[in-house]
Amino acid sequence: MAQPQTNVDYDVLLVGAGIMSATVGALLAELDPSLRIGLLERLDHVAGESSHVRNNAGTGHSGLCELNYTPINSDGGIDTRKAERIMECFEVSKQAWAHFVRRGFVDSPDQFIRSVPHFSFVRGAADVAFLKARHAALAERPLFQGMRYSNARAELAEWLPLMLDGRDEHEEVAATRSELGTDIDFGELARALLVQLESSGRLTLRLSHEVRELAQDDDRTWIIGVVDSVNNVHHELRAKFVFLGAGGGALELLERSGIPEASGYAGVPVSGQWLVCENPKLTGQHHAKVYGRPKVGAPPMSTPHLDSRLIDGQPQLMFGPFAGFSTKFLKEGSYFDLVRSLTPDNVLSLIGAGLHNLPLTRYLVHEVMQTFDDRIDVLREFIPRAEPDDWELAIAGQRVQVIKHDDHDLGRLEFGTEIVSAKDNTLAALLGASPGASTSVTIALDLLEDCFPERMDAWRPKLAQIVPTYGTRLAAEPALAARTRAATHDVLRLRS
Ligand SMILES: Cc1cc2nc3c(=O)[nH]c(=O)nc-3n(C[C@H](O)[C@H](O)[C@H](O)COP(=O)(O)OP(=O)(O)OC[C@H]3O[C@@H](n4cnc5c(N)ncnc54)[C@H](O)[C@@H]3O)c2cc1C
Repeated sequence: MAQPQTNVDYDVLLVGAGIMSATVGALLAELDPSLRIGLLERLDHVAGESSHVRNNAGTGHSGLCELNYTPINSDGGIDTRKAERIMECFEVSKQAWAHFVRRGFVDSPDQFIRSVPHFSFVRGAADVAFLKARHAALAERPLFQGMRYSNARAELAEWLPLMLDGRDEHEEVAATRSELGTDIDFGELARALLVQLESSGRLTLRLSHEVRELAQDDDRTWIIGVVDSVNNVHHELRAKFVFLGAGGGALELLERSGIPEASGYAGVPVSGQWLVCENPKLTGQHHAKVYGRPKVGAPPMSTPHLDSRLIDGQPQLMFGPFAGFSTKFLKEGSYFDLVRSLTPDNVLSLIGAGLHNLPLTRYLVHEVMQTFDDRIDVLREFIPRAEPDDWELAIAGQRVQVIKHDDHDLGRLEFGTEIVSAKDNTLAALLGASPGASTSVTIALDLLEDCFPERMDAWRPKLAQIVPTYGTRLAAEPALAARTRAATHDVLRLRS
């Protein structure tokens, strides 16, 4: 391999061409058009990992249908705070996306977002009682207006014909329905943003460029060691600020940066699989995203759901995800990823998390052992008349669950996303996987606040154009929330 050849300076260097880097890049380019922004991607195309439409479920997570966002309180009531928080984040995302549409970053909103009603569906007396209570609690919250509940078979059969057909008539079932739900192609959104930024000269995109090394110079700039896999050349680039938006690759790069804040983090890869159906007789009968109740011990992201999707213009049904195990941190990664991520600082965290999450371990072992027919049996809880010939197994994206060092428990498993930033604000990494892409704008704004505190006052007027409710708790401002949502949905052509 050739020796280092070039030195190029960037104000901001983004690593990874998924929805996160695209969002951070688009916001920064809007806030300060003079910034020299670079982006390095190891694959030869953008959004090829978790952000790709086939690798995630495309749910605009907003608390409408995900039952794990509304746990039961110690007093037996429903805690709506997490659902509301996710909804607020999603409203922020939609506002920024509407801004990007208005600015012409995306030709048409239906290129990446469309209305698809969100349902929760439950079976059995206990879960029906839970769903009824959940609906009553959310119906009082302004952001969730219009959600409907039904346990009447005839109505449910109208809403979800495929799921009621052939169902045991003695089984107690119920569902909630919200027209505010969305289905999103995050890969297409990332692609549109990056293409626009590159063609307008505001970002330099280098595909087939894998970041291997990071070292900080005395002047606090970062020296990034990159391999250009097409020309088999090693480059060194310099940047004042680095964002590791490398998805499953972020943990390893964070460790290589050597910043003290990286210490103690570990990651557990969880792969996923879908059952996919393209039979028009079935796809024509289901226009919904339907979330059920997760199994005991299942991580939140393994909640089973049945989604109607539109992929490359082709209607599909997607059911899953079924958890799997792989030692890779990226779908296109290496089987050595897990071993390479282990350091003396984090190995205890990993062991501790394993010991403290035995139900999760049992759940994962059970999932991995399932055959195709076992999975069809799980699908029949949603579609009683499901036939194996209509369905194929597809590999979903890879997630890396974060484990954080904890003095009491050794290691604590985190299911959310976490920004880890250097004390001097010159580098930040995004770890974790959920609720992920739907909250990408809030994550990006948090990152800007963390890493560019001295610029925030000057950026505030522009931020208010991008996200008109920036800095406001929308749940506490029903009139503003309703007004802003109506305007946003108008631009994005979504149902209200
Ligand atoms: C099965 C599944 C279902 C999901 N469902 C949903 C959902 O319904 N709704 C939702 O909002 N979110 C969902 N998510 C989460 C969502 O997909 C992710 O949060 C989001 O796509 C992450 O975007 P990202 O840009 O951080 O990572 P990615 O899209 O993975 O992009 C990271 C990029 O970095 C590149 N890279 C890695 N290492 C390097 C390196 N060393 N040098 C250069 N480039 C590098 C990779 O090739 C990749 O292109 C789901 C995820 C999975 C796996």
